Amino acid sequence: MINYIIFLFGVCWGSFLNMLATRILHQRSLLVHRSYCPSCKHTISWYDNIPLLSYLLLKAKCRSCKARISLLYPATELIAGFLAVALYSITTDPYTYVAYTVFFSGLLAATRTDIEAMLIPQTFSLGIIPLGLTAAWFGIIQVSLLESALGALCGYGLLWAIAKIFLFATKREGMGAGDYDLLAGIGAWLGPLGIWLTLMIASCTGTVVGLVYLYCTNKARATRIPFGPFLAAGAIIYIFFRTLLLSLFIIP
Ligand SMILES: [Zn+2]
Repeated sequence: MINYIIFLFGVCWGSFLNMLATRILHQRSLLVHRSYCPSCKHTISWYDNIPLLSYLLLKAKCRSCKARISLLYPATELIAGFLAVALYSITTDPYTYVAYTVFFSGLLAATRTDIEAMLIPQTFSLGIIPLGLTAAWFGIIQVSLLESALGALCGYGLLWAIAKIFLFATKREGMGAGDYDLLAGIGAWLGPLGIWLTLMIASCTGTVVGLVYLYCTNKARATRIPFGPFLAAGAIIYIFFRTLLLSLFIIP
């Protein structure tokens, strides 16, 4: 029963993240305006704004202009719901739970904006660094303050260096500054070891998914695929499978 309640809270939280991500991405005010349809500007009524349910009832179309509602909305809500339940299965400490919820929120919002617009607002990447440092300072996450600071620095530096080498070798931009920012943010929460494993998971899954995507859609090899979602997924996998991953790859 408790898991269902947590799931519902997670879904509502995901709906809030959708609002936050789209408004920050399109630089709209967070406070005053009601949400509106991006194509016909019609204000969305409360009954058309129920997480998950409205998307299904409206059959993914705006009530007034029938424009398609992005699949990113229900996907974000659903993932937030599952993450809320999964997080509860690994920690029941309220402080740790809230801290990781903040971290996951940054990751989910960054994923959303990166898929939608190939852009990660710094609110969701660099913005989670001070929060990670604070959580580490109070000892409510699994890294020390030093590891948190080192993680942020290594995260940024590592991706920056890889991107420069890639640019030198292929004369193409492989990653954007948004990716360095995001890995810096992740580093503040996971420390240097976490960065390393996050990057490994992200590169492997990114390569596989990227190749399948290019094969299925017949797009050119130079097509840019957002890397942020893979970094976010890597970080989340690391949180849930930390012990297993460390025993497999780091500690013999
Ligand atoms: Zn509309």
